[in-house]
Amino acid sequence: MKLVFATNNKNKILEVQQMLPSSIEIISLESIGCFEEIPETADTIEENAIMKANYVTQKYGYDCFADDTGLEVDALNGEPGVFSARYAGEQRNSDDNMDKLLEALINKTDRNAQFKTVIALNSNGQQHLFTGIARGEITLEKTGNQGFGYDPIFQPEGFEATFAQLSLEEKGAISHRGKATAQLIGFLKN
Ligand code: IMP
Repeated sequence: MKLVFATNNKNKILEVQQMLPSSIEIISLESIGCFEEIPETADTIEENAIMKANYVTQKYGYDCFADDTGLEVDALNGEPGVFSARYAGEQRNSDDNMDKLLEALINKTDRNAQFKTVIALNSNGQQHLFTGIARGEITLEKTGNQGFGYDPIFQPEGFEATFAQLSLEEKGAISHRGKATAQLIGFLKN
């Protein structure tokens, strides 16, 4: 089975690819000739995932899946949430985003947070959604150099390390995207 993964994020492709069975092949946006930025301007994580998957299916005619992820911090009423990528501005810079979040949590005792991923799958004319959540805490400083995005400041529940200190396999086994991808795979196998 061949499916387009509607992302240009090479880290996401690596994370998802290492979980997929060999019967499911990911086709890149490049290889279908999609070089433009896909809009993700909706108000919720779910709608953004749907928007990205529908863009590819409607414009290019391929079965496709897309993910959207947000970091929801309890003490900030779920922010940055759907705005996680542009939390510190349109430059979408991970270091700036992490700095802004660490600043916002100075003096806060509650540092609990969760990553939420929604995957939207368009397959055979039908749409399916899969959600994965990883609970954890925002650390006091950045640690580790694996992964991407907010990984250096997110310590998953039950671990003494941040996502950025875990291998691809370790992160995939417990992460939001790993959980959503496992559901996607379970669905596709049936
Ligand atoms: P999007 O799903 O690409 O829109 O991601 C939204 C924001 O969350 C971006 O700033 C990403 O860097 C960040 N992000 C998405 N997935 C992860 C992850 O697995 N770890 C850390 N940050 C992530």
